[in-house]
Amino acid sequence: MHTNDAVFLEDLCPKFRFRQWRKSIHKFTGKSCIYCGKPSESIDHVLPRSQGGLSTTENCVPACLSCNGNKSDENALFWYRKQKFYDPRRAMAIRAWLEGDLRLAIRLLQWANPKFKVNNKNYEKDQTEYNAA
Ligand SMILES: [Zn+2]
Repeated sequence: MHTNDAVFLEDLCPKFRFRQWRKSIHKFTGKSCIYCGKPSESIDHVLPRSQGGLSTTENCVPACLSCNGNKSDENALFWYRKQKFYDPRRAMAIRAWLEGDLRLAIRLLQWANPKFKVNNKNYEKDQTEYNAA
């Protein structure tokens, strides 16, 4: 598919764009849960939608179903501090993510999990896609 066609499709179909956006969120962390590092199966709203949280990249983090369900409507950082798998580096990453500094967030996540590798080229591309959206 042509890049131009893709942009056209996204304009025509918000659902398609939403899917692309969700995909790019998972890609930022190499498809791992930002809280515990397990495979991310869902997108967690840090500030829950019930409390006015928006579906923006800054407010949405990749999370496994267990963390997402467990956290429920609690403040993410507050909830996270009480978990057995709490890691201050991940907490810092979450904070950086919320501030929109994905680059720093990813660096902190890599620090927390040396096995986690992100293809920088893809990351740059995702960032462009996000800015275009
Ligand atoms: Zn998790």
